[in-house]
Amino acid sequence: MLDFIFSIINEIRSYFVAEKVEYEITGECKKCGKCCNYMYSVDTYTEKEFKIMQFLFPKYRRFYIKGKDEYGNFIFACKLVTPEGLCSDYKRRPAMCRNYPVKKIYFPAKLHDGCGYKISTKSFEDYLKKDKS
Ligand code: SF4
Ligand code: SF4
Repeated sequence: MLDFIFSIINEIRSYFVAEKVEYEITGECKKCGKCCNYMYSVDTYTEKEFKIMQFLFPKYRRFYIKGKDEYGNFIFACKLVTPEGLCSDYKRRPAMCRNYPVKKIYFPAKLHDGCGYKISTKSFEDYLKKDKS
């Protein structure tokens, strides 16, 4: 009975929760600084939205809009990355920096060319194995 209730809850949730792609992450950071100098946001489409985000969440005040890509999406960068590509605020860096690259996101991921990490998408069989274990 409990399983059935959870099935219904999960069914309802599936209409609201976007499915996330899961990745295997291997490798390590080479400290090139590319990810601090070139980043995207999944939910900031206008300068006004970005200012609101910075107002509501002070941790975003370290970022600025660097330009736009060929599709018109904002490219962000951090004011605190050194010319050598290192973090000048390493101990107080936000969680998004500590957790990069995250294992689960809403859309297909791509790392910067030359990044020391490698990502590989989990296959359908991988998900089946996980459910059985
Ligand atoms: S792009 Fe990759 S290797 Fe370079 S600093 Fe970021 S995580 Fe490290
Ligand atoms: S806070 Fe540090 S790790 Fe995070 S984007 Fe800025 S320079 Fe990079």
